[in-house]
Order: sequence, then C-alpha cells, then structure tokens
Amino acid sequence: MGDKIKINGISIAPDEHKLVNLRIARLPTHTNIDLPVHVIRGPEPGPVLLLTAGLHGDEVNGIEIVRRMISANLLRPAAGTVLAMPIVNVYGFLQNARYLPDGKDLNRSFPGSRQGSLARRVAWNLMNHVVPLADVGVDFHTGGASLHNHPHIRCVMSIPRNRELAAAFAPECVLNAKMIDKSFRKAAHKAGKHIIVFEGGESLRFHEESIQAGMAGTLRLMRYLNMISELPGSATMSVAAAVPGTGSGSPQGQDQTLMNMTAVGTDTPGTGTGTGTGIRTVTGAPVTHFFTGSSWIRARFSGLYRGSVNAGDWIKKGQLLGTITDPFGESEYHLKAPSSGFVVSVNRMPVVNMGDAIIHVARKSGGTAVGSD
Ligand SMILES: [Zn+2]
Repeated sequence: MGDKIKINGISIAPDEHKLVNLRIARLPTHTNIDLPVHVIRGPEPGPVLLLTAGLHGDEVNGIEIVRRMISANLLRPAAGTVLAMPIVNVYGFLQNARYLPDGKDLNRSFPGSRQGSLARRVAWNLMNHVVPLADVGVDFHTGGASLHNHPHIRCVMSIPRNRELAAAFAPECVLNAKMIDKSFRKAAHKAGKHIIVFEGGESLRFHEESIQAGMAGTLRLMRYLNMISELPGSATMSVAAAVPGTGSGSPQGQDQTLMNMTAVGTDTPGTGTGTGTGIRTVTGAPVTHFFTGSSWIRARFSGLYRGSVNAGDWIKKGQLLGTITDPFGESEYHLKAPSSGFVVSVNRMPVVNMGDAIIHVARKSGGTAVGSD
C-alpha cells in the first residue's frame, strides 16, 4: 500500500489514526446509522490488516477483543496499517441480536448492494470502502446461543496463505472450514483477500480466555506480518488487562497469557505450530493443532442434559460425555464418544430436544470441514 490511504473521501497519512464513519442508512426515527472504521497507520509502509467483529451483533467477545486492543493502543503498528471495525452489524448490536432488524444474516448477505436491504447495504459498504484497502484480515465470531466455542481459528487449510495466517495467529486449535456462499469470508476471497475467522465463547457472554486468546493471536499475526518488531511485554499486556470496564476476569488466566506473551524474543523457523513449512512462529505460543474435519454429536433423546466434558478437552472413543435424563425420572441415557477427538464446542442449554447438536468434535484426519462462520 502506497503513501496515501483514502477511505470515503478522507485521507489518512502515515503515523495517523482516524475514525472514519461510513453512512449506511437512516432509520424510521430519522436516526442516521454509521459504520465506524478505525484507520491506524504506522510510520513505515507495510501490509494492511483488517479486523472485523460483530458481523453478528450479539457476538460480544470479538467486539471486546478489538475494542480492548484499540483502547490499549495495541493496534498501532510500526509498519503498515490496521483497519479495525469493532462492530460491523451496529443494528444487531443495539438489539443484542445476531441478525439485522429485518431478520437478515449479515454474514449471508455478501457482497451486498448499494440500494438493497440494510444487510446488503452494510455488506456493500464493507466490500467497496474497506476490503479493497486490506491485504489480509481476521473476522471475529463466537458460538451461537448457548453454544460455547473453545477459542480457535477457522480457515480453508488447503489454501496455503490461509494456513500460513492461521499458523501465525497460533491458537491451540485450527479447524478446516469451507467458505459459505454469501459470507464475508467468501466474498473477500473472491476479491483476492485472505480472511481467517476467529471463534471463541458464546453469544452475549464475555469469555475472558477467548478474549485473551484473540488478542494474543492478533499480536502474533501482526508480528508475523512484520507490522510490529516484537510482541508487547507484560507491561503492555497489564495495561490491556487493566482497561476499565473490561471485566478483567481471573488474574490466573491473565498470568498464563502474560507468560505466553512474554516468552518471546526469537523467531524460530518451522517450530511451535507443527506445520513443518518453515513458517516463522513465536516461541511461547500455545502448540497449534490442525484439524481436517469435525462432526456434531447430537441428542438421541429429549430431556435434561448434563455434560461431563468441556470445550478444549481431548476425548477418547467410548468415553462418557454426558447424560440426558427424562425430567419425570423415568429414564437416563449415557452419551458416549463415538470416536476420539478434540472438543471444539459444547451446548450449555440444559434442556435439549432429540436431534439437537450437543458436542462438536474435531479430528486430525477424516471428517468433513465445518460449514459456518
Ligand atoms: Zn458469528
């Protein structure tokens, strides 16, 4: 990217940080709705990293990850530019809702249209004003209602640049995930941009471990892209953890992240992520496991579900995963693992119906690529 970055007629010079508002629409109440984009430029030229969150308006962990990093000044690069959008679906966010007021899923409305419905207008603005400026991106999501995701990255692992970005982000888990029609990830891919998806926690609930994992991964990615020369030390992360109103969670969890963040200093080729492709990774990051496929374990009976495993657990074939009991005390069903694997998501709703998805298990070989962001 050259010396000039212009978005919606506003120029941002090197070493400048501006908040640019894209006008989307006017509500029936005459309230104008804008789409805010932070444009944070470093003094030196370099890649442009796009961070988007809140495409689903109730997925607050991603919103908090981007917000906290802006507040703690962690997105100011030494080289290149960060485009940070903490809330893309501002309408859904206002209503604590996944979708827009017209019931449309923004992440199934791409590439959008200038004159279409609200969802398509938001998509059009993102694709036409923001995406053309970006080189790569991370789109932050969470599990749906009552579905808790262990923090992980989703990408198409057969696309080398996708896998490389995922390895640089270095989460504990990378899940092979095909691109869905009309999703932001697919539309950006068609425009020649590589977007990986972060998932962590569930909608409408803060999950501190996911927030920390998202922040740490984003910093590792910025380091890999040579946007920052080293990962922030414990002092910087303490500032991040101390940002007011963050509900900073358990000090223990933060200490663990501090260890991961500070055990840095050398870039070791081809180690740490198990890719064997010579990708530069950062010592101290969690070991990254790449999963080719996954499947859902579903409830065979309706009743009250009590889980015995957590997201992030490794399970063995035949292991007890939980019980479904008849609320009238007539029967009890023991849920056993049909195969070994890694638990990516768990249901947190105690009342389940026959066929409901309960546990999402990832495998290192076989299985089918997941199909949603
Ligand atoms: Zn989502």
